[in-house]
Amino acid sequence: MSNQRKVHVKSFGCQMNVYDSNRMADTLAPAGYVETATPEDADLVILNTCHIREKAVDKVYSEIGRIRMMKEEAAAQGRQMLIAVAGCVAQAEGQEIVRRAPAVDLVVGSQNYHRLPDMIARAREGECVVDTEFPLDDKFDALAVPKREQIAKRGLTAFVTVQEGCDKFCTFCVVPYTRGTEVSRPVEKIATEVARLAEAGVREVTLIGQNVNAYHGLDQSGSPASLGVLLRRLARIEGIARLRYTTSHPRDMDDELIAAHRELPELMPCVHLPVQSGSDRILDTMNRRHTIRHYLDIVARMRAARHDLAFTSDFIVGFPGETEDDFQDTLRLAETVGFAAAFTFAYSPRPGTPAAEMDGQVAEDVKIDRLHRLQALIAAQQRAFNASFVGLRLDVLLEKPGRLTGQLAGKSPYLQAVHVMGPAALLGQVVPVTVTHLGSNSLFGTLDPQRAAPELAPAGA
Ligand code: SAM
Ligand code: SF4
Repeated sequence: MSNQRKVHVKSFGCQMNVYDSNRMADTLAPAGYVETATPEDADLVILNTCHIREKAVDKVYSEIGRIRMMKEEAAAQGRQMLIAVAGCVAQAEGQEIVRRAPAVDLVVGSQNYHRLPDMIARAREGECVVDTEFPLDDKFDALAVPKREQIAKRGLTAFVTVQEGCDKFCTFCVVPYTRGTEVSRPVEKIATEVARLAEAGVREVTLIGQNVNAYHGLDQSGSPASLGVLLRRLARIEGIARLRYTTSHPRDMDDELIAAHRELPELMPCVHLPVQSGSDRILDTMNRRHTIRHYLDIVARMRAARHDLAFTSDFIVGFPGETEDDFQDTLRLAETVGFAAAFTFAYSPRPGTPAAEMDGQVAEDVKIDRLHRLQALIAAQQRAFNASFVGLRLDVLLEKPGRLTGQLAGKSPYLQAVHVMGPAALLGQVVPVTVTHLGSNSLFGTLDPQRAAPELAPAGA
């Protein structure tokens, strides 16, 4: 095909960006763009960016510098390469990106991906195109749906955005500014998308949103449905073996969602519930709108609904005004809950957010020291959590061949990587695995002898 062009999309930051990157590639497919894994041979490089911490933004600018050199090389060979910046940095900085990095040809905000084909056509004519409006039309309706082969190529697991934006305005966070106000997609549109994924072989779907459990999309009768109701609807779709959701806010953990954990075997017993700090004083200045008592109460209610539930979390250390005592409260909270894993961050002041202007900014070396101490505790908790499965059986979704011949790699209900020896025919199935020992980043186990039997070689092979 002579008018075929290549697009390379690189995602930074959260899973929502991974989902958006796939949808951008799907939207460009009808315009003749095929995905390429490397930027060097691409006609269009899209950097789908993250603005959450300063380091994330710095990474984007250094990546633009690297791609600019490839663009210059391409031009020397008489080939046009366009550079597009998408995502939250695009949304937050808009025109400023082109001023700081003139090699960028187009800047597209997170709500405007469906306009990409038109923007690219203008950029190819030499126009510098910046579009970071929050339009009223539904971006999800306007984005192209992926083809069956495209879905199959992306594997057995998929993300589906069900909710975007945030109305919570935590004082440290840029999301309400870069992703806008909370919007939920209707139940049946999500169900149609998940059914299409299942039909193409996807077995596990993770519902994503900046505040996923604030989901309130309309059901068929036009009434708002909660995340618990949505999960019940999706659990009925044939082929979907596993459902997950992320990221939740403690304030929005309601009875319907807790009941879904009690009743739906498809809903995995692993909940990401960011707490940020173990100090009520700091939670208040963060505007988190929950207390530690409230958080522990949710954990207890959820564990009562499903005893094998594990929790993971996000923490910020060194928030303005955080004292050593506040930090000790954070360590205590982590010890009380016992997390399976956690993301830990040193507070990064973000321009335009209230916390960036607060008194009592914590010195960088103090932040780093606290970060290391918290990370050591979380790492010990994660090791203990993993070790607790040795000798037990875990259901594992086998996703791909492992590194060794005859080895298969998959995920446990708790997102632990698990390796077993077994026939490739089991790929795509959820099978019971007895955990035998721990590796540095994964679990190793064995299949039932019956399942582990090698495939019969075809006659004459
Ligand atoms: N909506 C989720 C919640 O309510 O916790 C969080 C979404 S945010 C994209 C992911 C994580 O980034 C947050 O939970 C927080 O721990 C971290 N984060 C956000 N802003 C930050 C900042 N200014 N400095 C350091 N970490 C930050
Ligand atoms: Fe950011 Fe999450 Fe707070 Fe919303 S709830 S402002 S996304 S940290």
